[in-house]
Amino acid sequence: MSEYELKVATRGNHAALLPVVLIVTSINEARPAPVVNITFEDTALLQDGDKAIVQLISGSNSVFGTADVIQELTTHFPYLVGKDPKVETEWISQLESLTTLDFKALDPVLQRLDAHLLMRSFIVGYSLSTPDIALWGALRGNRVAVAALKKGSLVNLTRWYRFLEELCPWATAAVESMNAVAKEKKVAKSKEGASYDIALKNTENGVVTRFPPEPSGYLHIGHAKAALLNDYFAHEKYNGTLLLRFDDTNPSNEKQEFEDAIVEDLALMGIKPNKMTYTSDYFDELYEHCVKIIEQGNAYADDTEKETMAAQRWDGLPSQRRDLSPEESLSHLEEMKKGTPEGLRWCIRAKISVDCPNKAMRDPVIYRCNPATHHRTGDKWKIYPTYDFACPIVDSMEGVTHALRTIEYRDRNPQYQWMLDTMKMRNVQVWDFARMNFVRTLLSKRKLTKLVETGLVWGWDDPRFPTIRGIRRRGMTIPALREFILKQGPSKAVTNFDWGLIWATNKKYIDPIAPRHTTIFNKNVVKTTVTGGPAAPYSEEKPRHVKNAAVGMKKVVYSSSIILEQEDVKLFKPDEEITLMNWGNAIVRKVTTNEAGLITDLELELHMAGDVKKTEKKVTWLATEGQDLVPVELVDFDHLLTKDSLQEDDVLEDYLNKHTEFREEGMADCNVADLKESDIIQFDRKGYYRLDRAYAPGKPAVFFNIPSGKTK
Ligand code: ATP
Ligand code: MG
Repeated sequence: MSEYELKVATRGNHAALLPVVLIVTSINEARPAPVVNITFEDTALLQDGDKAIVQLISGSNSVFGTADVIQELTTHFPYLVGKDPKVETEWISQLESLTTLDFKALDPVLQRLDAHLLMRSFIVGYSLSTPDIALWGALRGNRVAVAALKKGSLVNLTRWYRFLEELCPWATAAVESMNAVAKEKKVAKSKEGASYDIALKNTENGVVTRFPPEPSGYLHIGHAKAALLNDYFAHEKYNGTLLLRFDDTNPSNEKQEFEDAIVEDLALMGIKPNKMTYTSDYFDELYEHCVKIIEQGNAYADDTEKETMAAQRWDGLPSQRRDLSPEESLSHLEEMKKGTPEGLRWCIRAKISVDCPNKAMRDPVIYRCNPATHHRTGDKWKIYPTYDFACPIVDSMEGVTHALRTIEYRDRNPQYQWMLDTMKMRNVQVWDFARMNFVRTLLSKRKLTKLVETGLVWGWDDPRFPTIRGIRRRGMTIPALREFILKQGPSKAVTNFDWGLIWATNKKYIDPIAPRHTTIFNKNVVKTTVTGGPAAPYSEEKPRHVKNAAVGMKKVVYSSSIILEQEDVKLFKPDEEITLMNWGNAIVRKVTTNEAGLITDLELELHMAGDVKKTEKKVTWLATEGQDLVPVELVDFDHLLTKDSLQEDDVLEDYLNKHTEFREEGMADCNVADLKESDIIQFDRKGYYRLDRAYAPGKPAVFFNIPSGKTK
C-alpha cells in the first residue's frame, strides 16, 4: 500500500496538473512498486480555486496546489534534486506563469525560457532535475504553448522540449493516459447529467407506476433497479403514485416470508409505495375475462403435451385443439377450475397467431391449472392466470399509466397490447429499460434459492449474495445504490457490470464518515518494548477521522510495549528510521530473524524529534498495556462464480467457486469494543469494514471487508 495519495481533479487546468502527475510518475518509475498512488477525480477538489486541483495526502497531512505539492514530493523523494535545490525551488514557484492560455501573457515567459536555454541542456545545472520535468509538463498541458512551439521560432526551448521527450519516454505515456482518464470522466459526467433527466411521455393526466415482484425470493440488485426507477418516476420526477403489486399467480413458488422481506427491503431503500396490492385480489375479474375471451372465440382450451406444444410453437404449427368451440373450451375450463386430474391436463391459450415471426404472439398460455394451496386465496382457486394475461389486465384496472418492463419483454409488448385491445380495456404505456447484470453473479431467484437450499451460502442475506440484504451486509449504502442505478437511466443496453464500479460509488459515501481504527493481525505478530517509550502507559483523545471532526473522538493508548505486524517489520532495515503512525518516529536498532525467515525479535528506539514526513515506512502498531485490545476477525469474500457470465446451458455446479471466504484474526484498539453491528469503519492501511457481529466477552468482533472498488 502506498503511503502517499495524490488526488488530481481532471477538470482542472492541465498545465497545472501535468507537472505534478509527471513528477509522481517519475518517482514511481524509479521504484519497484508505486509509492504515490494517483487518483483522478472529476470534481474540483474542495479547497480554494485553482490551487485545489491537486492534493497530496500523507496520513493526516495534506498539501494543495502544483508548486506546494511538488515541493513536498521532492523533500521526500529527493532523487531528482540536483546540485542546487534553492534555484530549483525558484523555478518550481514560477510554474504558475505557464498555466495561462492568454498568448500575450504567455509569450514573454516562453521567450525568457528560450533565452535561458541558449547555452544549456537542462533548466538547472548539468543534469535532469525536477524543474525540467515540471516545466515540460506545464508546457505539454498548455495548448497555447504547444502551438507556439510548433511555430519553430523558439529554437532553444523546442530543442530542450524534444530532448526531454527522448530522455523520459514514460512522460508521453503518462500524458496520454491522463488525457484518456480526463476524457472518460467528462463523458461519464455528461452521461450522468443526461440520465438524471430521464422522462416519460404522456404524463399530462398523471403518472401511476408499479413494481410487480413475484414473492418467490428476496429482492436482488436487479429488482432494486426496477423498484428505484418506478419510485423515481412516481415520486421524484412526477407527483404520481407508486403501487407495489405482488404478482402472486404461481402458488408453487410463493411464500409469506418473501412477501414480508420484499416490503422490508423496499423500506430499507427508502421506497414507500402508496398502495400495496396483489394480483390475487383480481382473481375473480381475471377469471371473468378468461370466460369472456373464450366466448368471443379469442381463446381456446388445449391439452397438447408440453414438449409438443413447444415444438409446434417453434415451428409455427397450429394445435389440434385450436378450433375447439367456445362451449367445449368452457367445459374444459370448468374441469380445470375443479382441479380434477382431467382438468390438470388442460390449459387455456389466447388465439393470436400460429406463425407470427414474433414467437411471443404464437398463442400464449393465459390460464393454468395448479392444485397447490395459494398463500392468500387458499384452496379457492385451482386455476391461475399467467403473467402475460394478468399483467396487462391488472395494470389497466389499477390505473397504471406507465408500465416499466425490462427489455427482454420487448417481444411481448405486442402481446400485452393485444390483450388490452381484445378486452377493450384502458391503454397503458410500456416503457422498456435494460436489465442489469453483474460479472460472476447470479441474478435468478431460482438459482439463488438453490444455493440457499443446498447450504452453499449462509442464507438470503449472505454477504456474497447480490440480494439487497446481502450487499447491505457487505457494506453497501443505499444512497450509493440509488446513485449507481439512476445514473444508468434509460440506457437500453444490457450490461454486465463489474462490481468495482458500484463499490467505487459506495466508497465516495463511506470514506468521509468512516471512523478510523487500528488492527494488527495475530499471525506471527511481533512484540517489542520500545526504548525511550513512556515509563507508564497513558492515553490521549484523538479524532476518529482526521478530516471530519463530526465523527468524534477516540482513545489512543501509548505504552512501551507494542505489537506490530510481521509483514511490516520484515521490511525494516537496521538503523532505519520509521514512523509509528499517529505517534512519532522510531529507529530500528536490531532485527532478529529465525531460520524460517520470520522476525522473532525487534529493538526499536523512540525518536520523537524525527520528522514523520521524512520516513519511507509508516506502520500501524498497538499498545499492549494501558488498554484491553479487542479480538477481531476480518473476513473477506470472493465471487460465488468462477465465470463472468453464465450461459443458458452452463451447469451451475461446474462454475461454483469453492473458496470464497477468507478469515484473519487480529487485535484492535480498545475503542472497537464499543462499535455496534452495522457500523462502517476503516482499519488504517487495511480498508473499509462493516461490523457484522459486535464484540462480546469471549467472542471476537467480526468485520466484513467492504470492497473499495479498486480491481484486485
Ligand atoms: P428472477 O429471474 O430473479 O426471478 P424476475 O424478473 O422473474 O427475476 P420478478 O419478481 O418477476 O423477478 O421481478 C420484478 C421486477 O424486477 C420485474 O419488473 C423485473 O423485470 C425486474 N427485474 C428482475 N431482474 C432484473 C434485473 N436483473 N435488472 C433489472 N430489472 C430486473
Ligand atoms: Mg418474473
